[in-house]
Amino acid sequence: MAKRSPSMLLADLRRAVLEANLELVRRGLVLFTFGNASGISRKDGLVVIKPSGVPYDKMKPVDLVVTDLDGEIVEGKLRPSSDLPTHLVLYKSFPNIGGVSHTHSEYATAWAQARRAIPCFGTTHADYFHGDVPVTEELKDSEIASNYEQNTGRAIVRTFHGRDYSSIPGVLVANHGPFTWGPNPGASAHNAVILESVARMAYFTLDINAQAQAIQRSLHDKHFLRKHGKDAYYGQPKEKK
Ligand SMILES: [Zn+2]
Repeated sequence: MAKRSPSMLLADLRRAVLEANLELVRRGLVLFTFGNASGISRKDGLVVIKPSGVPYDKMKPVDLVVTDLDGEIVEGKLRPSSDLPTHLVLYKSFPNIGGVSHTHSEYATAWAQARRAIPCFGTTHADYFHGDVPVTEELKDSEIASNYEQNTGRAIVRTFHGRDYSSIPGVLVANHGPFTWGPNPGASAHNAVILESVARMAYFTLDINAQAQAIQRSLHDKHFLRKHGKDAYYGQPKEKK
């Protein structure tokens, strides 16, 4: 009888992480290799992440890197993405997430560079983010000098003190760009695509009317809560497996 090893599960996770990385490219969120998606197997305590600097059109599941939550490589011949420590802080601090994506997509990054949270101007935003998409504080010089990537993760976590990471699945890192997350790698990439679209629409909204106001609270809540949470009714009922 074939032995069921943990690598069977990681093979699936590797494919999901590769697919999430490719989705970021297909949607035009990634220039060259500036982006990365990862996923975690909570059961195994292992993370699968894109290797550093490998062209996407050549990337295969076997090229992805498996690490533990301390960033030690468990399986893989290539170096992991240099943003791995940021992903690890998020997995450790946000226990319900299963995937993380990071891009320098243009509109979300423009908001990050302007160090402005994205206000919720409409229902597209409200469907996915229950509140503004927040922006982190800028890192201190000392936080940049050492453990920069880990400190980036810590800055994100600090931003979520008093916020619910489950209902706001993304953030703008000041002067850098967006990180998004979700229950699995594909969902984190999906949220990256939505965030870029929301950032773009918010930019145009202010361009058309610089005095545009955020959506009214009742409409924001309506849209978020009909799609998420215990009384959600948007889409088809989830099938029980
Ligand atoms: Zn980056």
